[in-house]
Amino acid sequence: MQQPPLEFATAEQVWERLRDEVTPGPTTTVPIAESLGARLAEDARVQLDYPPFDRAVMDGYAVQSSSFTAGGATLHCAGLVRAGAADHSAVTAGHCLRINTGAPLPDGADAVVMVEKSRENEDDQVTFDDQPAPGQHIERRASLRKAGDLLARAGSTIAPGTLAALVAGGLAEVRTFARPPIALLSTGDELRPAGAALGHGQIHDSNRIALQHLAAPDGTVQSLGTAPDQPAALRAKLEEGLAADVLIIVGGMSKGSHDFVPRVLEEMGIAWLVTSLNLKPGKPTRIGRLNDTWVLGLPGNPVSAAVCFLLFARPLLAGLQGLPVAPPPVLRGQLTSELPACGARPMYQPARWETTDRGEILIAPIDWAGSGDPFGMATANALLQRDPHAPAAPRGQTTLFHPLGLPT
Ligand code: AMP
Ligand code: MG
Repeated sequence: MQQPPLEFATAEQVWERLRDEVTPGPTTTVPIAESLGARLAEDARVQLDYPPFDRAVMDGYAVQSSSFTAGGATLHCAGLVRAGAADHSAVTAGHCLRINTGAPLPDGADAVVMVEKSRENEDDQVTFDDQPAPGQHIERRASLRKAGDLLARAGSTIAPGTLAALVAGGLAEVRTFARPPIALLSTGDELRPAGAALGHGQIHDSNRIALQHLAAPDGTVQSLGTAPDQPAALRAKLEEGLAADVLIIVGGMSKGSHDFVPRVLEEMGIAWLVTSLNLKPGKPTRIGRLNDTWVLGLPGNPVSAAVCFLLFARPLLAGLQGLPVAPPPVLRGQLTSELPACGARPMYQPARWETTDRGEILIAPIDWAGSGDPFGMATANALLQRDPHAPAAPRGQTTLFHPLGLPT
């Protein structure tokens, strides 16, 4: 049964609602080289034994340990085995083969002696002072992974190290959750493209570029440009956006005479999950479903737009990619300056965290002029979380914050 929409919802209520409603989207098979950042839709398993052959893990000599006494041995060096050597070679009693790291172990050899523990004499004679332990400096076939072993679990994010492991495991492609197609629309008669000359009453559309790049790691973003504050033109753009799995609209969400977005979406048949937030900044944020598209309406005020994207769009996009719908992670840090008392609404304010050379975490509130300040997020890499009516917090006090994982 459809639950009634949440009005004046706390962040926790929104996350809970998203947890109930968001289901993973489709999966797709992609070549390894195109899978960076995607989430595995099924466990990835090693296809081939690793290493695929017995190999040397030191530069030195491949020997038979039975050729040695406790005092060592002098052996005849019968040649060299290089990494990549395709021919099978063999070591016999009284002989050794020079071998390089990564080269296949010759038949008959059961140990490798480091080159540093040997002396080359004339006539290809090599003297060793110690007796090698059988198996030393050898990595046996399949000693790291056997074909079929687990390599990475479903749901894990493919990082550069994962790519290397997938390639080493002999995989050519992986099954991942498809990155959801995201359509992004800014609205407002006052908005002009970046760099354009401004007429009276106009500002540059600064939200769209930020949201486009905030969303990029979690989807394929299509920018629909800017819609005017005019219902018919707005509706045409919103209809275009319904081709995507997620439609993000910024601006025109509140109660002004020209805030047409909620009305037009309602005419189109949206089912709201959230119609406003008990949060500062970000009160006029809305979340709904229209046909098969998730719709996220963000306030036009730049800090509100960024904060509400980070708090709610990210978990939504994670859920669509098979990850848990979760609040952003929290850390604890020492305030570098005093925080004033918090008002009646929970607050998330831009901040910047860093570590000291002694491993302490510092969190610096950013001097922002409120939700409409387009410079407020310019250096932010964290959100300070404040509880309603929290008293003023002095410099040095430890406080919770959300690191945002943004480039710094
Ligand atoms: P709105 O949510 O449409 O009422 O807009 C709130 C405030 O944010 C107004 O001052 C708008 O001019 C401003 N604003 C709206 N959209 C954007 C945008 N895309 N970029 C920068 N500022 C915006
Ligand atoms: Mg507007």
